[in-house]
Amino acid sequence: MLVVSKIEDVRLAISDAKRRNLRIGFVPTMGALHRGHLELVRTAKVECDFVVVSIFVNPTQFGPSEDFHRYPRPIEQDLEKCREQKVDLVFNPTVEEMYPDETLTSVSVSKITEKLCGAFRPGHFTGVTTVVSKLFNIVQPDAAYFGQKDAQQALVIRRMNHDLNFPIKLRVCPTVREDSGLALSSRNQYLSAAERIQAECLYQSLKKAKELIIGGENHSSVIISAIREIIESSGINKIDYISIIDTKTFDEPKIIKDDALVALAVRVGETRLIDNILLDSKGNELIITQADQF
Ligand code: AMP
Repeated sequence: MLVVSKIEDVRLAISDAKRRNLRIGFVPTMGALHRGHLELVRTAKVECDFVVVSIFVNPTQFGPSEDFHRYPRPIEQDLEKCREQKVDLVFNPTVEEMYPDETLTSVSVSKITEKLCGAFRPGHFTGVTTVVSKLFNIVQPDAAYFGQKDAQQALVIRRMNHDLNFPIKLRVCPTVREDSGLALSSRNQYLSAAERIQAECLYQSLKKAKELIIGGENHSSVIISAIREIIESSGINKIDYISIIDTKTFDEPKIIKDDALVALAVRVGETRLIDNILLDSKGNELIITQADQF
C-alpha cells in the first residue's frame, strides 16, 4: 500500500494506474476509520481495480465553534485498517498541502444546502463540496463512494457531480450500525456510556417513522411528533431538526406521496449526531442512487 501526503505523488500513482487501464475507486474520509468507512472501501474493492482512500480532516467544513481541533486522528490505526482492506493508495495530506495559498475559489451548491444540516452549520457544505472537488481533480477516479449516513452530503455531492459534469460514477452505500441501531460515526468516541445509550433512541425513532408509514400514516407532522416524543423521552433535549424532505424537490411535504428522507440532528451532551432513513411512500427503505432525477 502506498501512503503519500503530496498531491504530486498521487498524480504519479494515478497516471501509472491509468496507463495500466485500472478502474480507479475513491473513498474520501476524515479518518478515525470504522466499519462504516470500511464498507465503502470493501464496495470500492469489489467494483474497482485500484482503490484510493483519502484521510484529511478538512478545516473549511468546520464552523469556528466546532470540533476541528479535537477531531480524532488515529493515523497509524487507520493505515493498518487500510492495509487489511488491501487499499492501494492512501492520500493523507497536510492542511498546507491542500490549502497552500489564500483560497479565492470555492464550489457551492445552492437550495439543497439551505435545509437540514445546512441551516445549522453555515458554510459547512461549501467546505465539503470545495474539498471534494479538489480531491476529485487530484484523484480523477472512475467511481467515488459515499455513505447514506450523511444523506444530505451525498445528495449535495451528487448534485455537484451532475451540475459540474464530473465524469465520476457516484455510489452511496447503506448506513452501517451497531447492534443497538446506533449509526457508526467517528464522533461516537466523544459519547459517555450513558450518552451512548441515550443516542440509541435515534434509530428507534426512525424505525417508528418507518412503521407509521407502513401502517398508512402519511402526514409528516404526525410522524415528526412521534419521532420527537421518542427522542425527548430518552432525555435528549437539544434537537437541531427533525425533518421529512422530498429527495427530488427538497421540499418538506405536509403529505408524503413520494420518496421521503426522514432526517434528524440532535446534540447528546456536547456531541452533535445525525441519522436518517430514506423511505418510499409505502415505507420501504431505499438507498440514494446516482440515477434519481434532480
Ligand atoms: P467522514 O470520515 O465522517 O467524513 O465519512 C467519510 C465517508 O464515510 C462519508 O461518505 C460518510 O457518509 C461515510 N460514513 C460515515 N459513517 C458511516 C456509516 N455509519 N455507514 C456508512 N457510511 C458511513
